[in-house]
Order: sequence, then structure tokens, then C-alpha cells
Amino acid sequence: MTDITANLAEIRDRVAEAERRSGRGPGEVELMVVSKTWPVEAIREVVAAGQRLFGENKVQEVCAKAPELGGDLRWHFIGHLQRNKVRKLLPHVEAIHSIDSEKLARYCDEIAGNLGRRLEVYLEVNLGAEDNKCGFAGEEVEGALEALRGLEHLDLVGLMCIPPEESDADKARRWFAGMRELRDGLRERGGLALPGLSMGMSHDYEVAIEEGATMVRVGSAVFGERRKG
Ligand SMILES: *Cc1c(COP(=O)(O)O)cnc(C)c1O
Repeated sequence: MTDITANLAEIRDRVAEAERRSGRGPGEVELMVVSKTWPVEAIREVVAAGQRLFGENKVQEVCAKAPELGGDLRWHFIGHLQRNKVRKLLPHVEAIHSIDSEKLARYCDEIAGNLGRRLEVYLEVNLGAEDNKCGFAGEEVEGALEALRGLEHLDLVGLMCIPPEESDADKARRWFAGMRELRDGLRERGGLALPGLSMGMSHDYEVAIEEGATMVRVGSAVFGERRKG
């Protein structure tokens, strides 16, 4: 086995273990492989090992890779998105995890409508109120969901976060738990299902699953450390 194939096998085992530990059913948590900065040759190895869902954070990259790899792959967008790139991006992606303003959401709805399709979206939450990160403040999420719930072409799947960097995965736990509590409160008060919690990366995905993640976004644990671009 190549490193990539072996890494992926190990991550799948760990995801399954974390599902068991946290009383979730097998396959309840979906693994997104984050392929940003990696060339299609590397991604093909992951595809050969059975992976179909990939994440990218640059519009240009996903627009090049998705058509080249073709087939039945699914692409999710996880980076900061400018409105003027939505039209270019949408034909290539099933979901956007990084909706960070109502304006952006409304624009995505409009373009999805033009394309005659629906788009899955997650609202990005800046739980640690960090200046260098995008996303809604925790207390803004409820109002945003209220404002967006009527949009015809968006499926409001749930919430996404990139928590503040912590020295070890266990310290990240409180952020993930905070996300789950936020979601549970919104669910009770707002009546939206919000099934999705997109959280957990290479160094903390197991903890994220234990705290309720439904999708983890793992890059460097699959491919190795990213090449500086
Ligand atoms: C790069 C990235 C990831 C994956 O990070 P790794 O630490 O390489 O697993 C996950 N989510 C987002 C939003 C990213 O930009």
C-alpha cells in the first residue's frame, strides 16, 4: 500500500472507532478528504481507495480538478467565498460549508435558482470570535437562519466551524461541544432540523466525532503535510 492508501485506511478505522465510542451508527459520520494544494494524481490514489467526497478551499482549484477527475466524485467548498466567484463555482459543488454572511447565502440561492438546482449549505460559525476568521458570531446564527430559511434553492444543512487552535485535541473538545449545544438550541427554538455539524480536522477529528460531528474534514492526515504554495 502507498502511504496515502494506508493513511486513509487508518483514518477510516479511527472514524469507525470514534463512532462506536460515541454511540453512533456505523457510517453515520462522513469523511471529507480535503485535497487542497494536492494534484489530481494524488487525489486519484484516494479515489482508487473508494473515497468519493472531497473538499477544496479555492474556487480556481476545484474548477480545475473536478472536471479533470470527472466521474461520480462529490465536491464540497470549505474556503472563503467571494460573491463574484459563486457563478463559476456552483456547477462543480454539491455543498458550501463556508457561508459567512446573509448576502452570500442570498446570492448562492439566486445562482442555484438560475442553474435550476438546489445547494446544500452550512453556516460557518466563528466560535472563538477570532479576528482572523470568517463566520457568524455564535449569537448571530439564529437571526441568520431565520432570515435564510425561506430561500427556495438552499438546503440549510447545519453549522461548520474551524475552532481556535489548541495545543492538543482534547482542549478543542469544548469548542466542538459548544457547537453541538448551539445547534441543539437552534433546533429546539427554531424548528429547523439542522442535521449537519461539519467539524474536526486531521489533529482533532476523533474528538469532534465524540462531540457530535456528522462530517469531518481531513487533509494532511491523508496526504501528508501540505506543500507550501
Ligand atoms: C485545510 C482545511 C481542512 C483540513 O485540514 P488538515 O489539518 O489538513 O486536516 C479542514 N477544513 C478547512 C476549512 C480547511 O481549510
